[in-house]
Amino acid sequence: MIIPDFQGEIESDAHTREKYSRDASLFKVMPTAAVFPRDAADIKALVRFVNANPHLHLSLTARAAGTDMSGGPLTESIVVDCARHMDAITRVGYGTAVVEPGVYYRELERALTAHEFWLPSYTASKDLCAVGGMVANNSGGEKTLRYGKTADYVRRLRVVLSDGNEYTFQPLNLFMLREKIRLHTFEGSIYRDMYALVTENESLLRAAKPRVSKNSAGYALWDIWDGTTFDLTRLFSGSQGTLGIITEIEFRTVRSKKHARLLVLFLNDMSLLADIVHSALAYKPESLESYDDNTLRLGMRYMLFRFGLQFIPEALMIIKNGGLPKLVLLVEFTGDSDIETLARARQAMRDMRRFGCAMRITKTPKDAEKYWAIRRESFNLLRNKIKGRQTAPFVDDIIVKPDFLPQFLPQLNALFKPYAADMTYTIAGHAGDGNFHIIPLMDLSSSRARTVISALMDAVYELVVRYKGSITAEHNDGIVRTPYLERMYGKEVCALFARTKHIFDPHAIFNPHKKVGGTKEYAMAHIRTE
Ligand SMILES: Cc1cc2nc3c(=O)[nH]c(=O)nc-3n(C[C@H](O)[C@H](O)[C@H](O)COP(=O)(O)OP(=O)(O)OC[C@H]3O[C@@H](n4cnc5c(N)ncnc54)[C@H](O)[C@@H]3O)c2cc1C
Repeated sequence: MIIPDFQGEIESDAHTREKYSRDASLFKVMPTAAVFPRDAADIKALVRFVNANPHLHLSLTARAAGTDMSGGPLTESIVVDCARHMDAITRVGYGTAVVEPGVYYRELERALTAHEFWLPSYTASKDLCAVGGMVANNSGGEKTLRYGKTADYVRRLRVVLSDGNEYTFQPLNLFMLREKIRLHTFEGSIYRDMYALVTENESLLRAAKPRVSKNSAGYALWDIWDGTTFDLTRLFSGSQGTLGIITEIEFRTVRSKKHARLLVLFLNDMSLLADIVHSALAYKPESLESYDDNTLRLGMRYMLFRFGLQFIPEALMIIKNGGLPKLVLLVEFTGDSDIETLARARQAMRDMRRFGCAMRITKTPKDAEKYWAIRRESFNLLRNKIKGRQTAPFVDDIIVKPDFLPQFLPQLNALFKPYAADMTYTIAGHAGDGNFHIIPLMDLSSSRARTVISALMDAVYELVVRYKGSITAEHNDGIVRTPYLERMYGKEVCALFARTKHIFDPHAIFNPHKKVGGTKEYAMAHIRTE
């Protein structure tokens, strides 16, 4: 394949195609080729090439670090890998950072830490993922409870659109919006059509916005226009590369807090969870995370070498209680003074005594590290350490209002019960938001696994919708959840998603089968077998 004006590499050997056929999801989709643009000019050349050759039926799917859990960066056509070359940290200043999409979060973190700033929407995969994927998924993590998601930190985006030109998107006031609407260009038509779409459907969109603290399902049409500011960065954030390819991001960054104390609760009676979450939230923690006994067991088994004697409190607890606690809750308090931070943790602990569960406050950052490592690394341990069974993230990111947890969690468990022989699973998550990551381990080579996945997906997403939650809080739709968007939002709202896609990408050249046009048949046909 020769692409005029394209300066990067084009690779279509078997090894490359195999590598790019996978992310961290349930799926395998074999691409035709992977391309490695050097800059925005290369991405423009790619778009021009695809537009000039409609008979080849090509499309472009952007990829950053490829850690997506939904199949977002997988395609049968061309993968556009932005991580090989488009990885410049252009500017890091007071409260701001300008970067290319292929910058790994860990590199940005290093650069920001030197200025005592950070981007607090980081994920549990923060050592693996890149910022282009974080924006495109509108990712979140353990600090989202206090600080919000990635979209909240996007100030400005540069994006190559389907006409092959690069544009800047940022919040506009009414005067600036009118200027854009007047343009007789593709950019002008986007502003006209999107303004019409959101204003004509204002009440429908207001009602459709999920009533949960975070959501990555569908297009965030309800966040574009508040009557004063028109902001298409809100739409691009979380759109999974289906509307254009991001070439530059300006982030707002915030000052990091100096001190942290972790209150750890070991819970045996799950019916107390919602009350404990409510009580903990009253003390305004920075994080409220959780993981179950299977996750703890996995951590103790595979991190024994790393943390050794630090597991003694857990070992003593097993002896005393005759087993591991059902759930570990991590409630983190932060501040600029250790005395004040510790006082808040102690006050919360005193209040929580009425629940009768074992508790402790960590003494040092090192002491807290073990709990965070188990929370952040459990999915990777499952992926990399367990042989013979594979991680099957198909209901990996559900969220309901924390108020509903006492009714919701037993019903969720009941759905899994008939399949106890087919899988083991871990549950970890952001308890403070009511967001849980359920990761089953299954033998994906068996046809039975597909039957179970199909039935459980339907049942779990049905339950989530009944409780007015979201099918994905932060991992996004991808191949796995696009087929369920209609169940969550209904036909009318999904028609607006399709109209949005058409406004930006009328010939569907960006990331097909995601957000619009994905079917359950396509998803089931691409489940990997190993
Ligand atoms: C161990 C583990 C833990 C995880 N924990 C979390 C978590 O806590 N929270 C969370 O939100 N997610 C989590 N994830 C999922 C994933 O890591 C995040 O969603 C991450 O932000 C994706 O970044 P990436 O660089 O790997 O993106 P990729 O996987 O490369 O891409 C993600 C999506 O973004 C699109 N995209 C990439 N680059 C661009 C671009 N330049 N322009 C337009 N679109 C683009 C892709 O097409 C794709 O749809 C976890 C994954 C793993 C493996």
